[in-house]
Amino acid sequence: MRILSLLILLVTSPLWSWGDKGHRTVSTLAIRSLPEGPRAWFQGREAEVCDHASDPDHWRQDRKEGPRHFMDLEPYGGPDQLPRTLEEAQAKLGGDFYRRGVVPWIIQDRWRDLVDAFRAGDPARVTFATAILGHYIGDAHVPLHTTDNHDGQLSNQRGVHSRWESGLVERHITAEDLAVPPAQPDKAFFVRPWDWLRASHALIPQLLEDDRDADRTTPLSGRGKARTAAYWMIFWSKQGPVVKQQLQLAGQHLGDAILNAWIAAGKPAPPAPSGK
Ligand SMILES: [Zn+2]
Repeated sequence: MRILSLLILLVTSPLWSWGDKGHRTVSTLAIRSLPEGPRAWFQGREAEVCDHASDPDHWRQDRKEGPRHFMDLEPYGGPDQLPRTLEEAQAKLGGDFYRRGVVPWIIQDRWRDLVDAFRAGDPARVTFATAILGHYIGDAHVPLHTTDNHDGQLSNQRGVHSRWESGLVERHITAEDLAVPPAQPDKAFFVRPWDWLRASHALIPQLLEDDRDADRTTPLSGRGKARTAAYWMIFWSKQGPVVKQQLQLAGQHLGDAILNAWIAAGKPAPPAPSGK
């Protein structure tokens, strides 16, 4: 039974988000963007944030977990009709709105957890809450996490989800090549996730077109199996800048989220390390 669960996890988890490397990159960029005050909380804990950045992808046993990683915008009539509250979502879609995805509300909830962790003065809690918040912020920046065509299944491009968010990232991305601006205080931070979703969603048509273009290099017999080196070269040359941009934006927005949580908690200093 346990082996079966593991197999299900292995088969399905790539659809849940950036691969491990992507989520680690987002965490690294975010901590790098912080000013000294909140950054002091992560002294010596940077690796721990990265190590937990993919944890939510392994919580499949919780049946409510899946929809926390995405939001399908089509059932709402596109990005301009995005519901801002749970009540609005429920009114538009009825009882089953949850399975269409709830990522913006989860980001708000996990952000509150981070504020509480700062208030509690507990660096271990701050570290974990940051990793988890960062995961969902990262997912909101993956274009295919904002559509019901999330794996290209409606446009005959099955597998495009992991080709974009893991395949390209694993092959080409290193955090050292990416840069984020300093984190910014933002009084309207709480409504930003909807802006991120709208921007991610706008990238989908080109992403799918570039995958189709690159796929013409893949012999039919290879479909569903490995793509050719030419496929990866073409897809990267077209979508590489977008992958980098979305990782950088996710890192920047996680940095903003941490800074704003620290401010909301009253700008606390980390507790002094206890002597031996
Ligand atoms: Zn995820």
